[in-house]
Amino acid sequence: MQAQQQNGQPSILQNQVVVFSKNYLPLARVNLKRAIVLLVTGQAESLFSSTQQWEVRSPSVILHIPEHIRLTSVNPERHWKVPPVSRREVFRRDNHTCQYCGSTKHLTLDHVIPRSKGGGHTWDNVVTACQTCNATKADRLLHETRMVLRTKPKAPIHPAIAFAEQFWKEQPPVDT
Ligand SMILES: [Zn+2]
Repeated sequence: MQAQQQNGQPSILQNQVVVFSKNYLPLARVNLKRAIVLLVTGQAESLFSSTQQWEVRSPSVILHIPEHIRLTSVNPERHWKVPPVSRREVFRRDNHTCQYCGSTKHLTLDHVIPRSKGGGHTWDNVVTACQTCNATKADRLLHETRMVLRTKPKAPIHPAIAFAEQFWKEQPPVDT
């Protein structure tokens, strides 16, 4: 079984390539365009006899881009820090999903313990909530409502670690 890379996207350049660190840890997905830049500038090299390749043609060159590439120097993400609690980062952590009802529309930030009751603007107290849930919860504590959080809010982990966990989860079982 091979991972399907085609999502009906309009351009081949939207295809995703997995970038591995020099130490063969999966780090991130980048689009084909970014992968080409990394390969052409020598910042990355092809990895494995990849199960899938994309052929990209310019007037003068034909490039074969594999689905897995490996950085040739040490991972530049070493200086990653936990991001500040912002709409963008909280929505991203919560997968743009209301943490009470699962809606993906009209999203807002909700303080689980309302600020008026001493709740902080912190990763473990701020969640994504749709307008409806936010209005329903209003200025109450969770146990005063019938609402339940889908996941316990916490600070995001290093993106490379999060990506690696997800990547290995998605791998098909190895045939023996
Ligand atoms: Zn909701």
